[in-house]
Amino acid sequence: MSEGKMLDGKVALVTGAGRGVGAEIAKMMASRGAKVIVNDLGGTADGEGADQIPAMETVKAIRDAGGEAEANFDSVSDFNAAQKMVDQAVDTFGSIDIIVNNAGILRDVIFHKMTEDDWDSVINVHLKGSFNTSRAAATHFREQGSGAFVHMTSTSGLIGNFGQANYAAAKLGIVGLSKSLALDMSRFGVRSNCISPFAWSRMIGTIPMSTPEEKARVEKIKQMTPDKIAVVAAALCADTAHNVTGQVFAVRNNEIFLMSQHRPLRGMQEGAGWTPESIVDHAFPAMAPNFYPLDRSADVFTWDPV
Ligand code: NAD
Repeated sequence: MSEGKMLDGKVALVTGAGRGVGAEIAKMMASRGAKVIVNDLGGTADGEGADQIPAMETVKAIRDAGGEAEANFDSVSDFNAAQKMVDQAVDTFGSIDIIVNNAGILRDVIFHKMTEDDWDSVINVHLKGSFNTSRAAATHFREQGSGAFVHMTSTSGLIGNFGQANYAAAKLGIVGLSKSLALDMSRFGVRSNCISPFAWSRMIGTIPMSTPEEKARVEKIKQMTPDKIAVVAAALCADTAHNVTGQVFAVRNNEIFLMSQHRPLRGMQEGAGWTPESIVDHAFPAMAPNFYPLDRSADVFTWDPV
């Protein structure tokens, strides 16, 4: 296969593609032959407002490089708007083959101060938004017997982080969504995978930096560029990656990790049946050596990115 043609003939919808990780994914996929609907609402990092310029800039960059792209400025959290994004892909470029659920916002706040609006806005963009675009594409994927989903998850959900209960719940929900899509749609030749990216973007600029440890962590993240995520996203959508589905990959700079998934770790049986007391006295102490500490992402990814 000649380089630059890996995604030839494919049509991709990349959400949140006006900036950061999404913009690099859209440009990378276009460089590999895909025609791209560049969706971006263009709001602030916490989801307020709207601006058409970010999506238009990505479209211009793709066209300047000789690729094909059209902009879409709607919100992924609107079910009907997501349907129209997929319709736009089919009407403009003739099909839909790739969905990249990347659009995102943050409303970080310690849990006891989190408002209903903080919760709803983050869940609506990340989790509901990923459902909306996926559901719209699923009808086409089923009919054509092919399709690839890539969803952005986060180590904030996979591992943990302070002040991100809304975001962590949405991002782990996306892992469940992706696995379900992989299971339900494998009979139609459809694949679904998650990427947990580490990349410097304006979203990371909203991470609280009150302690020296947090400041040091952000300095490390600044070295990690979004284009490193884009190469993995493009690879996942290639027909030659036909056996890759239902997986979660973490990506930072030149490192790619296949992440573990939940499986039983330690079992305890009591033939006579457990009581609350015997669980406290026997089951929990026996399992305690295998308990996970209250790790945050940075406690697991302790070394500098390569
Ligand atoms: P970013 O803020 O630079 O880009 C996100 C884009 O999504 C923005 O351009 C924004 O306008 C757009 N957007 C927000 N709400 C939208 C909506 N309702 N409809 C359409 N577009 C909308 O952020 P990023 O760092 O590039 O993040 C991209 C994805 O990667 C997100 O899902 C994020 O949660 C995930 N992620 C990023 C990192 C990282 O290190 N950058 C880490 C973990 C996960």
